[in-house]
Amino acid sequence: MAIYSIPRGVSRHLLDFLFPRVCIGCRAPLVKKSAYCYICDDCLRKIDWIRYHFCPRCGTPDVENGSACDECGRKAFSFRRNRSIYVYSGLGRQIIHELKYRNGRHLLPDIAHMVSEAGLDLRDTVLVPVPLHWCRRWSRGFNQSELICDHLAKIYDCEVCQLLHRSRHTRRQFGLGFRERWKNVSNAIQVHERILARTKLAKNRKITLVDDIFTSGATIEACAKVLVMAGFEHVEALTLARA
Ligand SMILES: [Zn+2]
Ligand SMILES: [Zn+2]
Repeated sequence: MAIYSIPRGVSRHLLDFLFPRVCIGCRAPLVKKSAYCYICDDCLRKIDWIRYHFCPRCGTPDVENGSACDECGRKAFSFRRNRSIYVYSGLGRQIIHELKYRNGRHLLPDIAHMVSEAGLDLRDTVLVPVPLHWCRRWSRGFNQSELICDHLAKIYDCEVCQLLHRSRHTRRQFGLGFRERWKNVSNAIQVHERILARTKLAKNRKITLVDDIFTSGATIEACAKVLVMAGFEHVEALTLARA
């Protein structure tokens, strides 16, 4: 019998038998049924989740009383808010590295589950992946933000629109100081005018920018700024990790 004709539950059983799943954190075999496919319960508990006491504007964790953090008090971002799911450390960092550098597409259902557990409702939003320069996208073979968007779109039945592109190659943000990050990415991102014209997106649609990591916010801000300049009234961001 061809595997595609086996009922879904049975094929999962068969695949688990042929290719036993192990936790990406501790390598323990995963046999029991769980909402997560590749992370065991013990390792899930070790992730530094951002669920309470975060800045309502930029998602910085450990901010008291739900008030804006110091940075947001000083700075006006173009996006209304950023929500990050966990702190970029330990297994949280490993998940992103697996996805980006080891083509860990099998982790996408677990990532989508993390988003839904964070209580985010993306049904009426348009997901916009933060773009990579074509050169980096070509060398990696994919853009991790596009992969996350495509998977979330299937679950929430929402649209994905690649509204943005990088007009110039930028240095990796990793290792750069705060000011250097803002300078590095400013003016590097533009709206894809042809795609914007073709999709005829209403300017009052909620846009959710999607990226893997929020560090200084420079990249998300560069994206949000051009979308607001193009007339979009409501731009938010969803990032997997907060560095
Ligand atoms: Zn584990
Ligand atoms: Zn903030």
